[in-house]
Amino acid sequence: MILTKVRFPMTRGRATQMLDELKKAGLKLTPQRIAIVRELADDLSHPTAQSLFDRLRPAFPTMSFATVYNTLDALARCGLTGTLHLGGAVRFDPNTEAHDHAVCDSCGVIVDLPREREAVMFGKIPPAIARAAFQVTSEERTYRGLCGRCARQDSN
Ligand SMILES: [Zn+2]
Ligand SMILES: [Zn+2]
Repeated sequence: MILTKVRFPMTRGRATQMLDELKKAGLKLTPQRIAIVRELADDLSHPTAQSLFDRLRPAFPTMSFATVYNTLDALARCGLTGTLHLGGAVRFDPNTEAHDHAVCDSCGVIVDLPREREAVMFGKIPPAIARAAFQVTSEERTYRGLCGRCARQDSN
């Protein structure tokens, strides 16, 4: 499955911000790491480490998968990218605002859904979670179905 790259329209400085934070975290900014960060920073397709590796390999034939994975892992540990576990693969998500996801069962596109302010769960824990005495630190919700494009093709 090949996902086309979706670009952030509004966050021009995202890559710079990520690189600054990595430097602060003590990582040396090699040309490969800079390319990995730039590739992820405006990519809303929720890429896997493997797909970023495949995209960057033509430009960096000597780059190892471990370099890609470790750089993404460092970004995640700094809170600069979210991670998303879908269908067994870890995906990376440079959108760190609280949001939910809608996944198309036909083409696999993953769409970010901004949270409505009042839908944020903290402060109103569902009774079942309260009964289980579970301490919630984060919440993620995934909706499945057909994206607009696939739904239109379906009805043709
Ligand atoms: Zn679709
Ligand atoms: Zn997302």
